[in-house]
Amino acid sequence: MGFVAGKEVSVLKNAPFKDPVEYRLMGYNVSLRRVEAGLIEVVTPEEALLLHPHSYDGTIDLEELKISAREKGRMISVALVGNPNCGKTTLFNRLTNSKEHVGNYSGVTVGATKSTLKKNDYHFELTDLPGTYSLTSYTPEELYTRNFILQEMPDIVVNVIDASNLERNLFLTTQLIDMDIKVVIALNMYDDLQASGSNLKMKKLARLTGIPIVPTTAFSGEGLEDLLEKLIEVYEDRDPVVRHIHINYGEEMEKSIGLIRSEIKKDKPLTATFSSRYLSISLIDKDPEALKVLESSSNYQSIKEVTGHEIVRLEHRLDDDASQLITDAKYGFIAGALKECYKQGVMNRTIATEKIDRVMTDKYIGFPIFLGMMFLTFYATFTLGALPAEWIMKGVTLISKTVADLMGSGMLKDLLTDGVIRGLGSVIVFMPNILILFFFISLMEDTGYMARAAFIMDKLMHKMGLHGRSFIPMVMGFGCNVPAIMATRTIRNRGDRLLTMMIIPFMSCSARLPVYVVLISAFFPNYPALIFIGIYLLGIAVAILFSKILNRTVFKRKETPFVMELPPYRMPVLKNSLLHMWDKASQYLKKIGGTILVAVVLIWALEYFPRNENSATDMVGSTSGLAPVPKVSQMEQSYLGRIGHAVEPVIRPLGFDWKMGVSLIAGIPAKEIVIGTMAVLYGTENDQHKNESLQTSLQNQRYEVGPKAGEPVFNQAVALAFLVFVLLYFPCIAVIASIKRESGSWKYAILTVLYTTAAAWIGAFLTYHVVLLFI
Ligand code: GDP
Ligand code: MG
Repeated sequence: MGFVAGKEVSVLKNAPFKDPVEYRLMGYNVSLRRVEAGLIEVVTPEEALLLHPHSYDGTIDLEELKISAREKGRMISVALVGNPNCGKTTLFNRLTNSKEHVGNYSGVTVGATKSTLKKNDYHFELTDLPGTYSLTSYTPEELYTRNFILQEMPDIVVNVIDASNLERNLFLTTQLIDMDIKVVIALNMYDDLQASGSNLKMKKLARLTGIPIVPTTAFSGEGLEDLLEKLIEVYEDRDPVVRHIHINYGEEMEKSIGLIRSEIKKDKPLTATFSSRYLSISLIDKDPEALKVLESSSNYQSIKEVTGHEIVRLEHRLDDDASQLITDAKYGFIAGALKECYKQGVMNRTIATEKIDRVMTDKYIGFPIFLGMMFLTFYATFTLGALPAEWIMKGVTLISKTVADLMGSGMLKDLLTDGVIRGLGSVIVFMPNILILFFFISLMEDTGYMARAAFIMDKLMHKMGLHGRSFIPMVMGFGCNVPAIMATRTIRNRGDRLLTMMIIPFMSCSARLPVYVVLISAFFPNYPALIFIGIYLLGIAVAILFSKILNRTVFKRKETPFVMELPPYRMPVLKNSLLHMWDKASQYLKKIGGTILVAVVLIWALEYFPRNENSATDMVGSTSGLAPVPKVSQMEQSYLGRIGHAVEPVIRPLGFDWKMGVSLIAGIPAKEIVIGTMAVLYGTENDQHKNESLQTSLQNQRYEVGPKAGEPVFNQAVALAFLVFVLLYFPCIAVIASIKRESGSWKYAILTVLYTTAAAWIGAFLTYHVVLLFI
């Protein structure tokens, strides 16, 4: 009709009711219905402007529009569709150089991720969709993926298939075939297929299905260039393999499909966008979404009638549920196709997986193995991590000293050394621990063990009103609560997800560690390990308690059944694990860069102002190389000190003095700051061994005034109460910000602040008074 690339089209007039529309192009007029016109791609002047903002000089001439049209024509939109765990995200990341999260447990990708890349003259717009086994509309993932295909109409769908599990993966393919869209199969995990000694006649399978097949190994990048080339070929309609085949559903069903189809076909505009055969099959499949699509159709009633009649007839004839008949026929097609072109090798991964699982999830030794893994992880995190942490501390001290030496004294120097460098230093020092922890978590995810851990823990988590999947984020919480809260994205049920998010703050993150170290070594030198473990366990116990409370009050949820995927075990790829590790660590770093830096500077300002009259002489010189810090009197009369005094009545029942109050408030931006503040307030800035001396000075602190004058500030009761408070009150601003972001509302963030603080107060109060009874 003259609708070819690069021609100018203008709208002449709309018919009444705005349909059809008359267009003018190449010197003559045509009239098209809106739906049909929708299938023709046009570039409007506005879009051209977006494509070339720089060349805009007030008018857009025809020449520019033509260039834009040609460019838009060279944009291929591609959607990645496949089962969970077939490697879609790995493929996506490899192709687009992004770092989306991959993992060997399902549900990692929840929404869609988009990215673009260039190949030859083409721009690809790639979309990574959630993994699904099917395109019916039973789960959110299925519905999402299917709506994306039908509504966004990508130019080509890449069906990613796990080559080591063809039968199950091809089920989705049969549904794509029914939809009558352009599909290319990426036969992923081709390395596994080769290693297993299986034999697949790819060309033959491609001819049978009418879909081109490209073997790929996503994580090494093999076959990806071929895949892109194939996509271009298919887009340009140059591929000889592509053809639309009909899966044969058997004589009876084909008869029904035919009848329903001819009814649907009466509605022309509808069949312009949807394959009528696909709709007919979906109707027999009792797919509620298909009915919804047809609802607007003029002959909806008669379509429904014919369908109802045919389903009854089929079920009576073939003595089975209609939807089951469709599924059976699809598997029949797959079995037939595979029989002709596939010979399974002996080294099958599923068999290996079963063997490994017999040990890993064993009734008796599964749990000890799991505990062993956890122990190994935490041992490596804290013991191995201590050494590089020490180096970093030394490095930061050196930098701080150098800066201090280079700059003349003044506010800027104080801001830099006491605020920025010291603040950042106390955070970066945890990088080694976090990197190691995340490395282990990545390893467990990539091998597939994490899914088993969730499986093993499921029963226990159930008792807490959670399920196995919550376990992963909760473990991550021991490292840093921020990524842990992000990790709750893998929990599909919103109630479960919110609940998990809200109890994660009770998982003692590594930022609280320095407080434990200092106080435990100062006041419990005889049994440090016991107190350590006790604190962590207390956190878990409070989490359980709150999970129960929240379940009864805020969420009031019913149990939802779910399938726990146990994906096959895989050899981890070092590069992948390192990438994951970096991914998570950089999230933590971003937390430093943003929130913490602002908070540290804010706290610094609160303790720096208002200045003392004689502040110039009130600075304490540094002999240790650490920057000079304000003297205690400055701290006391500063805004921070005043706040500390103001809250003293509230914390006095816990046995705390105002300095502890200040430290706790200073710790609101980040728990790392608590110890730094204590070091300033309890006056240890002159000493070489900061921590050691902090311990002794805590032991020697005495009340100067008031009813307790002369008594030591700290005893075991106070110390333990303080530990409990630090454990339970909300970890930091970044966590609250994450809860707000992930839950989508301030409600849950504020709620978290309130109940964690309340729990901390009550916990510390009880601890203080109970321990007092014993000492
Ligand atoms: P998705 O759920 O489809 O997005 O799958 P992911 O991209 O998260 O990958 C699942 C797991 O399969 C990860 O552990 C990947 O490292 C692994 N994987 C991805 N592609 C390949 C491949 O070509 N061969 C092998 N052996 N493993 C792969
Ligand atoms: Mg994924």
